[in-house]
Amino acid sequence: MKELAKTYEFSNVEQRLYQWWSESGYFKPTNDPQSPNHNPDQKPYVISIPPANVTGGLHLGHAMFVAMEDLMIRYQRMKGVPTLWVPGTDHAGIATQLQVEKMLGAKGITRENLGREKFEQETWAWKEKYGSQITRQIRRLGASCDWDREHFTLDDDLSKAVREAFVRLYEKGLIYRGPRMINWSPGLKTAVSDLEVEYVEEAGFLYFFKYCLADEPTDFIPVATTRPETILGDTAVAVHPEDERYQKYIGRNVLVPILNREIPVIADEYVDREFGTGSLKITPSHDPNDYEIGLRHNLEMISVLDKDARINENGERYAGLDRFECRKQLWEDMKTAGLVIKEQPYNHQVPRSQRGGEIIEPMISTQWFIRMRPLADAGLEAVRDGRINIVPERFSKTYNNWLENIQDWCISRQLWWGHRIPVWYCADCNQVTVAREDPARCSHCDSTRIEQDPDVLDTWFSSALWPFSTLGWPDKTPDLQYFYPTAMMETGYDILFFWVARMIMFGLEFTGQVPFNTVYLHGLIRDEHGQKMSKTKGNVIDPLDVMEEMGTDALRFTVLVGSTPGNDMNLSTKKVESNRNFANKVWNAGRFILGTLERAPQSPEKAPDWTLADSWIWARLQQLIRDVERLFGNYQYGEAGRQIYDFFWGDFADWYLEIAKQQVSEGGDRAYYTVHTLVRVLDTCLRLLHPFTPFVTEELWGHLKEACQEKTSGHAPKGGWEDALMIAAWPEAISLEGWEEEKIRDFSQIQEIVRAIRNARTDKKVPPGKRVPAILVAGDKINLLRSQAAVITAMASLDGEKMQLVETIVERPSDQTPVVVSGVEIFLQLADLVDTQAERARLSKELEELESQITRLETLLNSPFAQKAPPPVVQKEREKLAGFQETAQKLRDQL
Ligand SMILES: [Zn+2]
Repeated sequence: MKELAKTYEFSNVEQRLYQWWSESGYFKPTNDPQSPNHNPDQKPYVISIPPANVTGGLHLGHAMFVAMEDLMIRYQRMKGVPTLWVPGTDHAGIATQLQVEKMLGAKGITRENLGREKFEQETWAWKEKYGSQITRQIRRLGASCDWDREHFTLDDDLSKAVREAFVRLYEKGLIYRGPRMINWSPGLKTAVSDLEVEYVEEAGFLYFFKYCLADEPTDFIPVATTRPETILGDTAVAVHPEDERYQKYIGRNVLVPILNREIPVIADEYVDREFGTGSLKITPSHDPNDYEIGLRHNLEMISVLDKDARINENGERYAGLDRFECRKQLWEDMKTAGLVIKEQPYNHQVPRSQRGGEIIEPMISTQWFIRMRPLADAGLEAVRDGRINIVPERFSKTYNNWLENIQDWCISRQLWWGHRIPVWYCADCNQVTVAREDPARCSHCDSTRIEQDPDVLDTWFSSALWPFSTLGWPDKTPDLQYFYPTAMMETGYDILFFWVARMIMFGLEFTGQVPFNTVYLHGLIRDEHGQKMSKTKGNVIDPLDVMEEMGTDALRFTVLVGSTPGNDMNLSTKKVESNRNFANKVWNAGRFILGTLERAPQSPEKAPDWTLADSWIWARLQQLIRDVERLFGNYQYGEAGRQIYDFFWGDFADWYLEIAKQQVSEGGDRAYYTVHTLVRVLDTCLRLLHPFTPFVTEELWGHLKEACQEKTSGHAPKGGWEDALMIAAWPEAISLEGWEEEKIRDFSQIQEIVRAIRNARTDKKVPPGKRVPAILVAGDKINLLRSQAAVITAMASLDGEKMQLVETIVERPSDQTPVVVSGVEIFLQLADLVDTQAERARLSKELEELESQITRLETLLNSPFAQKAPPPVVQKEREKLAGFQETAQKLRDQL
């Protein structure tokens, strides 16, 4: 038999096992719908992986979702369910385009002077080069995906799905094009969705100025703004209809500062009388609220910014100035003109681009939108009626809230990398052609003078189709029919709206079914102090470094066991280190058990006669199996992992393995059946642990299987040894036979006695391993203790020959250390065993401290304190002194 390495050498194992699993076809679903004997009635378990950005390198967020989904998939696979985990990557529009532009920029090339076609070629080349990096890294985490079903959001079949979805929505009247208020990113030069805008509280100013009456220039309405440059686009001043201060102005005209355009004073209940001056300048083209007011009052909409956020020709003399430059210039000019009242420091929410960081400008722009209301209603219904279950449940509220207040989704992006919008404009009849296949002619007038919309779709449009487009939709493929709807959508709560909600809405719209039955949202990983990890803080933990240093299993176990649904977790390398130690613990337990297989007989002579320890570990194992099953059912994967860990390290390694050493040394049937229990418990633990730590468990299990097969068939699992642990059967608890509870209770009492003796030994600094004589007064537990005397002796390092076990005792030995635990009295004869020199040193030190306390108290009690303080206080101090003196005397006697 092969001897195992002293420690688990993960670097030799991980890649080899992954390749073996993959080549053996274990990542592929059983009951494949494309196989001839496919059974459509067997329910599969399917997860679509959150597609990683092709631009990305692996970070802990990936480690989290890959480990969690792999756990779910491996668990179901071991339960015999046909499982499919669909992998893939996302083209990540803006992110990728920026990366490629940066790369070109380093060579002095801009995307504009390269041209669209060449730029797209460059981006594809870039994707070919770097896109597979992330999937290689995901493999390294042990992901048991079916790589033959890998997809990329710009693949031909997925592009076809995107086209189909767009055309269907358009034909249904759910897609429209129009001028709307959008968020413009001047840095990225594209519209971005509401979700891509972050509001940051920043220090700024509130600028107060005069809106002078057109027909009475000496009178004015005071107005305040945080963005003076937008004054150039004002088309009204609004006041509250019931505001007495301003009622007389309603219906009259005021003059836009510097430009001297006449605009009306209107009344609108939206105006907050308490805020600022109680009057509001209205810029419908550059503020979403003003836009709504503009629509209500039919106001003119004047845009004053261009795509670079410079002032356009409507800003007259300010045209060409940058927005912030204009702010200064205009304000100076207004000061000179006597129109300024004051400036006041003011903190306000500034909209910034999530990706670029620059200030977003609300602008009116002609874009493509999806009417979300009907889609959102269907999405709300699916969660309300339980077709979709969100874990943890509290996120249903967040989900409902967002969908109830949903805005139309701006889906056009002014980018080059992505799915081009399938709309062609006709130069002759001005109509649009929307088509599944690229048209050669206008569908209205047959003209060939048509041109495709230059914009691409928001990246999330294609991700929203992901669970079914990756299975073949819109074609009714066997995969789509069998694997859809998928079972589980596992992802971070931070993309609930971006992605999860949109998949639900699109799934319902296009397939008539929910795309998945359960949404499991995991939390984010923070550093050990609970801080968000970021490059600027320098607290980022690179999962690749961690895996290199401590192994994939250690990293996986750490993120899995630290997580509870929906809650953030703190991660430190220390935690990973202790889980690497756990992997080693498992390995060493395996080494020991393989060794016992060598020493024990290969078959028994008689039927088993189980010891209390055998029965106890078996009963505890059954408990564990049931608990893990229940916890998995409640999505408490972290807690399940913790319980397996505790069982393995505590019950199994610290207790049973130690007792087993004694039992094996007895030889004969005792040794055979002990080894049998060791093998069965280890095999079961490896199965339970496999979804958490697939590599060390597979490797060790392989050795266990081989060693058992060499020796005997007696220790094999019920159905025989499977080909690999990853496809081995998941443990099922056997039904209770009635004896279990009592055995667990009895053994717990033995554990308590052993622990109490160990504590007393530690207190007295008895060197470990030193055998101690003892008297155990068992009372009514005499039979239990009699049967477990050897266990207690071994586990508590008692002196077997000088150990006395009695039911009662007449005279308690006064020179021995007494310990009382669960009704059992224990007298330990420690006197001769204690390291006397060390013990003396300890006692001397204790005495020294006591004596200084005594001196302090004596001084105090001889001082005026004794007369002045209240008698009970003085009395208390005297008693304290007496106590100290008594203890000091005892210490002196012992020394
Ligand atoms: Zn036409």
